[in-house]
Amino acid sequence: MKKLTPWWVISALALGVAPVLAAGTPAHAHVHGAVQLDIALDGPTLTITLEAPLDSVFGFEHAPRTAAEKKTAQDALATLRTSGTLFVPDAAAGCTFKSATADSEALHPGAKAGEHADLDASAEFTCAKPEQLRRIDLGGLLDRFPRVQRLQAQIVTAQGQFKQTLQRPARVLTWGR
Ligand SMILES: [Zn+2]
Repeated sequence: MKKLTPWWVISALALGVAPVLAAGTPAHAHVHGAVQLDIALDGPTLTITLEAPLDSVFGFEHAPRTAAEKKTAQDALATLRTSGTLFVPDAAAGCTFKSATADSEALHPGAKAGEHADLDASAEFTCAKPEQLRRIDLGGLLDRFPRVQRLQAQIVTAQGQFKQTLQRPARVLTWGR
């Protein structure tokens, strides 16, 4: 018997967008040590979005229990939320750090223990010469979070879209050259 196409698939196709079939499924595989970076340049605004296994940032993957775990989590979140030195854009682009966020579902009430968890963070910069941006130094991030081994980056700029993987000991993500 032929399966009926749900109305929302038809609507999505009619609108010319791909239907999101698996709502709630993480966009990327959860591999400890592997971090996904989305880098978007929209006019002068540079937005870097990071999705990391919580293990790669905290060294554990559950809500902090002990005093030591709480301190580790607080310090890591504070660094991600306040520091513009984790990501250092190309000096030629003249970018200044504006704001950052960091959070994890594991830190919220009702988080299920014993499951994998991710950390989501973002950083925003304003760039005087965004067209000059061809590299971001990730050394600060790699130094601060030694469990991060590999960064898979998707870069979207006015010049096009790029995919790059950065693996230790490399520290600088480059594209478009
Ligand atoms: Zn995990």
